[in-house]
Amino acid sequence: HLTKRLQTVLSFIPKGARLADIGSDHAHLPCRAVSDKLVPSAIAGEVREGPYTQSIENVRAYGLEAQVDVRLGNGLDVLQPGEANAIVLAGMGGELITDILTRGRSKLAHGTILILQPNIRESHVRSWLLTNGWEIDDEAIVEEAPHFYEIIRAIKIGDARAQDCDESDLLMGPVLRKQKSATFRKKWLRRKKKLNEILAALQQTADSEMIRERSRDCLHQIRLIESS
Ligand code: SAM
Repeated sequence: HLTKRLQTVLSFIPKGARLADIGSDHAHLPCRAVSDKLVPSAIAGEVREGPYTQSIENVRAYGLEAQVDVRLGNGLDVLQPGEANAIVLAGMGGELITDILTRGRSKLAHGTILILQPNIRESHVRSWLLTNGWEIDDEAIVEEAPHFYEIIRAIKIGDARAQDCDESDLLMGPVLRKQKSATFRKKWLRRKKKLNEILAALQQTADSEMIRERSRDCLHQIRLIESS
């Protein structure tokens, strides 16, 4: 059984792709992708021994040893160039995701598809994608209370800036902003409420340059949300 978050990640994988799931933990996603016949085979990469060993056991329990290749290693180091054309990085912080992509950039050929699900700092991931020649072609947002998760799919189209995105697009997602789903509206209404609370608390605090800067930052974010 996959969580709603991982189901959505799965739904973004192109049929027949050469799939790699990096930071796979227990290899649930690649096992499901293969057993659903979405992809013929998949690679599961994991940097920690414990989850790696558990993944091997899971793959064996599903009888998928011939199709799911579990590899121990850091980030994209587990891949040979050209081996994967759809790469999932899910359930990690945005900074870790972009660090892994930067270190492994030689494995990311034209046409490669990334399916990213940062737990935090989604805007950092989007701005990395746009400045490194990727185009965001689809996004989704799901709620697993109390969390909202954003899934970003991008395709490698060049080396320089690809898409034109403004600051609101980076913060909220260019596709998600157009879709404006009920979940999207719920997330940003909640965030706005939180920011207003923080702002009110800051105004109760002794005045200082740092407080003023944080207040300006809160107000700026509130305006970005309101302009969407
Ligand atoms: N991808 C799964 C998901 O979305 O449910 C698992 C998410 S789990 C929270 C993050 C996993 O990434 C952990 O198992 C961690 O060991 C692994 N990880 C962290 N840094 C990594 C790296 N540099 N290379 C490979 N795996 C890494």
